[in-house]
Parts: sequence; C-alpha cells; structure tokens
Amino acid sequence: MKFNFDITYLNLPGELFTVCSPVPVSQPQLVAFNDNLATELGLNAGNINTNELAEIFSGNKLPEDSASIAQAYSGHQFGYFNRLGDGRALLMGEQITPDGRRFDLQLKGSGPTPYSRRGDGRATLSAMLREYLISEAMHALGIPTTRSLAVVVTGEPVYREQVQPGAVLTRVAESHIRVGTFEHISQFSSVETLKVFTDYVIKRHYPELLQTENSALLLLIKVMEKQIDLIVNWMRVGFIHGVMNTDNMAVSGETIDYGPCAFMNAYKPETVFSSIDTSGRYAFGNQPEMALWNLTRLAESLLLLIDTDIKKAIAKAAEVLNSFQNLFEQKYHKMLAAKIGFEYTDESDILLVNNLLGWMYEHNADYTNTFVRLMYPAIIQDKIYLDKAFLKWENDWKLRLQQKGITEEAALKLMQETNPVYIPRNHKVEEVLAQVTETGKMSDFQKLNNLLSTPYATSDFDAAFMQAPAVADELVYKTYCGT
Ligand code: AMP
Ligand code: MG
Repeated sequence: MKFNFDITYLNLPGELFTVCSPVPVSQPQLVAFNDNLATELGLNAGNINTNELAEIFSGNKLPEDSASIAQAYSGHQFGYFNRLGDGRALLMGEQITPDGRRFDLQLKGSGPTPYSRRGDGRATLSAMLREYLISEAMHALGIPTTRSLAVVVTGEPVYREQVQPGAVLTRVAESHIRVGTFEHISQFSSVETLKVFTDYVIKRHYPELLQTENSALLLLIKVMEKQIDLIVNWMRVGFIHGVMNTDNMAVSGETIDYGPCAFMNAYKPETVFSSIDTSGRYAFGNQPEMALWNLTRLAESLLLLIDTDIKKAIAKAAEVLNSFQNLFEQKYHKMLAAKIGFEYTDESDILLVNNLLGWMYEHNADYTNTFVRLMYPAIIQDKIYLDKAFLKWENDWKLRLQQKGITEEAALKLMQETNPVYIPRNHKVEEVLAQVTETGKMSDFQKLNNLLSTPYATSDFDAAFMQAPAVADELVYKTYCGT
C-alpha cells in the first residue's frame, strides 16, 4: 500500500508532540476495512492482502515515511482543567489525497505514550467498532466527523470492567487539533509558540484568513460558526456527544471522540446516556450552551494574539462570543423548520414546530420516527400517532403549508433531505457489538453498517430496524467512558 504523507506537524515546536512508536501486538487481524474511504484517500487496497493491512493498521509495520507522534494537548474535562495528550493514539501521517486534501491518519489504541498517565494505551474491540459504526453513520448523515478506515483486533486482552479483546482503530480527520491544544499552549508555552501554532491552524483549516488584520479573532469566529453548524446538525438527528470536553472539540468543526455518545429516541432535551455525566452537563439540550462554554476557553487562549491591550482583547472576544446565541438560534430554527418542510422561516413556523416538539415530549414520542411519520404516514404504525392532538397538529401543519404556497412535493423533498429514516439505534448497535464479542462474527455489524450508509432512504424501508425501543428499556440505557 502506497501512502502519500506530508507531515507538517513535525515542523511545529517540539513541545507540541512526542515522537514514539506503537507497541507491537501479537496477533493482528483485520476485522473492518473501509474500502470507499481508502479509495477517497488514494490508498488503493486492491492488490494488498488482509494480513498486510492488519500489520500496517495495528501499528506493527508502519509504512515508510510515517511519523508516529503523540500530540500534546490539555482540556477542561467536565469543567476542570487537566493536562492530557494522546495517551493511546499516534499520528501515522498526514495523507494527501488524489484531489489534494490533507487528512490525519491516526492509530487509536496503539499502546502507551508519555501522555498515558495511568492508562494502558489500549482500546477494546467493542468500543472501536462502535466508533467505526457511529462515525461512518454520521458521515452518511452529512455531518462533519472524523472517519474510520480500519479496525484490527490485537489478539491481546484489555482489562476494563471485564476482560475484553483489544483492537486498534485507524481514525481519519482533517486534523486532531482541539480547543484543548490551544489551551495547552496558552497555559504551558510562550506567546511565540501560540502565534506559530495559530498561523499553522489558519493555514491548514482556514487559509482564507491568511494575511488578514486580526486573524486570531477571525479564527475564533470561524471556529464558532463551524461549531454552531455542527451542533445544529447533531440536534437535527438527535445525536448526543456525551463528553463535550474541550479536548474533544476539534477546531476543524468535525465531530470527534466517539466515547459515550448515543442517539436520543424519545424527544427529551434532558436526555443523558453517559454513566459519568451525573449532572447532565452534556445533555442533548445543553449542547449549544456547552459549545459556547468551550469556545470561551478558546477565546481566552487566544487573547494575547487578539490585542496586546488585554482589556481590548477581552472586549473583542466578548463581542464575538455574545453573537453566539443569535447565530445559533437562526440556524437552529431554520433546521427545525426544514424538518417540517419549510424552506424559509418566520415566527409562526417556529411556534408550529415547537408545538410538535411539545407534543412529542408529553407523549414520549420518538424524535426520528415522528418526522418519518409525517413524511410517510403508512410506514409508521405506532398508535401514538392516532392521538387527537397529533392529528390536529398535522392538520394545522398542512393548512400552514397551503397558506404559504408550499406544495406537498416541495415540503416532502426538503424533509427527506433533513430527516433521517435510519439512525444508529442504541439497542441495535449493542446487538451487533454483542454478536461480535460473543461469536466473532461480523455479519450483523456489516449489515447494520450498510443500512446506515443510506440514512435518508425514500423506499424499501426496513421496518424492523425502524422500531424504537420501549421507553422503559431506554431509560436504563447507559454508555461508558471506559473504552
Ligand atoms: P477521552 O476521554 O477519550 O477524551 O480521553 C481523555 C484523555 O485520556 C486523553 O488524554 C486520552 O489519551 C487518555 N486516555 C483515554 N483512554 C486511555 C487509555 N486506555 N490509556 C491511556 N490514555 C487514555
Ligand atoms: Mg478525547
């Protein structure tokens, strides 16, 4: 396999990374490989056998010209600042694709690094397959995300609550630069390093800001806009990240770090699945506020570059952060309106969609399926949709479309682009992962992965898959960080 690496991170000040090697594993075996992504990356795997892929993507046999570096970063975890860094991941290289784009290829679960603290540097097969499945589902949903190229089992046990098979995931990202990377530099490095790094990030992710007057401030604005778009997308499909610590927020605007994430079923903004998020800090409906909290940490880290007069710097950053709420609401409302077929929005559209959300909340109605029911009344049989209040709402909605001169076809088209039919339902994800760990078979995993690659299906619906779990099952569903 021929890589096309150009590793610019190595040119940054040495305090920002540590060169170290993956720890070899005894029996690497390829269990998942993303052919489409490989092709996109310019890694044609056609003439290479799975043993070689297993050797490469376990870290046993790194390709020529690869780098193998652990990146330094810090982060606020549940509100508290910690010094972190890649404790179980290594950057293999920056791959330049045939169409000239740059992507980090990172091994996750490749063994301890100087940043591991008490961790073992390893990852479980189940967690890596979960990340593979959900990140690829997010990509298919049209949501910016890191992607998954390969999963290799190591043949070695990993000790968590139970003993589990270990695995290495190859993660692909526009970069792994986080809000926490900026915090790290602002806390532990010089202003010169901060300047060099900020210029690097601008050149890599926002080249349109090169040679602008206050590029640090403009960078803050760009990252904010990207985050707003991202969170609006998450909320469109019911995604709960679960651990939106500042080290898990990429400045590229990609969804990163699939730990305890999960999709909401019944519409409840207070939904939390993560076992460690006891206060509900990262609940579904809190995600915009937490994004702003994280952006405020980014702004603080950039202050010295925004203005040499600290008071002025704070005033400029505050002005940007103060615009978050309005910008978010505009985009959020546009998205909600699109979910019921309105291209442009006024307050009455928002009122209408809020009434629907209120009805869902009261009746424990499934977020995804309620919109599917509006698009395809015959497909969803749940008797909850015979409720008088729902039928009245549906009637009002149709009248409103008529009043606005929106045809049913136009509304349906917009809704089909906005509302997924398939999301990675938690109970389905658990089912396929259990099959892998109990029997070693990948067939159900592949089937689900395949189904999730066309989330906006408009025909041939898989009714069994679309069934939401019973509300009682969902209330006890928990995700774990010990991955
Ligand atoms: P996360 O919770 O995945 O965002 O990780 C937070 C920090 O813990 C990062 O510095 C990770 O590299 C580190 N970490 C997570 N799991 C492990 C592990 N098994 N071994 C070493 N470090 C880990
Ligand atoms: Mg992380």
